[in-house]
Amino acid sequence: MPTYSFRCAQRCAPVEQRFAMADVPGEVSCPECGEAAARQISSPALGRGNSVAMKAHDASRATAATPAVVSSLPAAGRSATRTTSNPLHRRLPRP
Ligand SMILES: [Zn+2]
Repeated sequence: MPTYSFRCAQRCAPVEQRFAMADVPGEVSCPECGEAAARQISSPALGRGNSVAMKAHDASRATAATPAVVSSLPAAGRSATRTTSNPLHRRLPRP
């Protein structure tokens, strides 16, 4: 369930509550002053997760935006080094 932010007219601290998307009300009662706190429109909190999949996605997006610059040909014989920054690479089969 997403978290929604509400704020009363008295400008108390923002109230954050979780509702199902179909059941979110337009206003809730402020826990500090008791007045109606209207729902605030905010950006979705995409990318704030801390899962392994999101870290891998962020890492791959970062390499796509700023690829490593190659200034010379690789040495003869390809080394079997793997990056350790991407946790999904640990699941790849070993030679
Ligand atoms: Zn209030």
